[in-house]
Amino acid sequence: MSFDSLGLSAELLRAIAEQGYTSPTPVQTRAIPAILAGHDLMAGAQTGTGKTAAFTLPMLHKLMGDAPQGRQRRVRALVLTPTRELAAQVHESVRTYGRHLPLRCAEVYGGVNILPQIRALRSGVDVLVATPGRLQDHLTRRTVDLSSVDILVLDEADRMLDMGFLPAIERILGVLPATRQTLFFSATFGGNVRKLAEKLLNKPQVIEVARANAVADAVSQSAYFVDTDRKRELLAHLIGKEQWSQVLVFTRTKYGADRLAKQLGHHGIECDAIHGDKSQGQRNRALAAFKRQTVQALIATDVAARGLDIDQLPHVVNFDLPTNPEDYVHRIGRTGRAGNKGAATSLVSAEERGQFAAIKRLVKTDIPAIVMEGFEPVQQSSRPRPTNNRRRPGGGGNGPNNGNGARRHARPAQGQGRPQTSRRPRGAQTS
Ligand code: AMP
Repeated sequence: MSFDSLGLSAELLRAIAEQGYTSPTPVQTRAIPAILAGHDLMAGAQTGTGKTAAFTLPMLHKLMGDAPQGRQRRVRALVLTPTRELAAQVHESVRTYGRHLPLRCAEVYGGVNILPQIRALRSGVDVLVATPGRLQDHLTRRTVDLSSVDILVLDEADRMLDMGFLPAIERILGVLPATRQTLFFSATFGGNVRKLAEKLLNKPQVIEVARANAVADAVSQSAYFVDTDRKRELLAHLIGKEQWSQVLVFTRTKYGADRLAKQLGHHGIECDAIHGDKSQGQRNRALAAFKRQTVQALIATDVAARGLDIDQLPHVVNFDLPTNPEDYVHRIGRTGRAGNKGAATSLVSAEERGQFAAIKRLVKTDIPAIVMEGFEPVQQSSRPRPTNNRRRPGGGGNGPNNGNGARRHARPAQGQGRPQTSRRPRGAQTS
């Protein structure tokens, strides 16, 4: 299958060729003709599947027909995304794929000065990419007019609901024309997501490109059993020994992200942290340095990393396992994209064994767990964590003694007799 047969204009095909894409991904093959034919869409597609181009390309094709000029331009396509980073990336995709078209795109998201956004909106745009909260601000200030929107895209709708954006979305829907094309993208279609989709969509075409919670085959998954207070050393060791040049590391809390960035710095690893307490400028700079590979390790919380698109990212590390097993799928979806190989490594403490088992059940894969020589765990998993530990005290986990294929090295465990306390910060805010 080639892009030529999908019905896209010559300008778009040229931009696609300049990107080096030779054939459409499965979601593109199915979504592009459906969108061009004017259907609403309910698409189960995660990041990494090529979903951004799947809606951006036909959207641009449809807009270019009768693009008005200058201030006569009106917002005719609106893309809602959960995070600033994803908004910035969709905006970048619109610019990339629309480079040979006379269309203007603006992005609006929170955490940055609103005035340049107001100026951009006033000068006339065809495509607006926005996070719901900031767009709601613009509606209140009457600095945006959405009465001409023909195409509405909800990107990562499940995340928008998770993040509490439903009231903002409903306010936005209230000012959109009732007759429009709506494209609904979500990795999952649980209760509230499905309800919203059913309310918004008119006889949609349904596209499911990968089983929800499926992990790309291109990602090899592994895990190390290690004590909480030795994770940092093990990570520094892995980065050095394996010569990881670009690794995205997930922590559970903003505090944990900052602390780990500082500690890895002491090991001579260039790193930076991104999370909700960092300004947009700081986040953009950290991401840019990471993409250039002047920063080797980027430490991130789930929300901050949502939707990050880093070309050919080779490594993702779960320094802390996510509380919600589905976040594991989202996290490791940062790597192994668009035909590239990727590796996802999880550092699993005794108290996270229950979460690890839940993740394995979700992804239906027996992720091999390794004990690294010199980092043998001495903590026992018998003490249940006060929260988020589904493991029963005293057994039932997937530890090295449970016959799940984990190797235990013969060397005596180091650090025997150290106080077996977890240094996990309690009560720190997640981002
Ligand atoms: P997305 O799922 O939209 O986050 O896209 C994931 C990655 O796939 C991005 O880096 C895109 O540039 C890339 N991509 C999208 N479509 C194609 C394609 N047809 N061939 C190769 N790479 C693609």
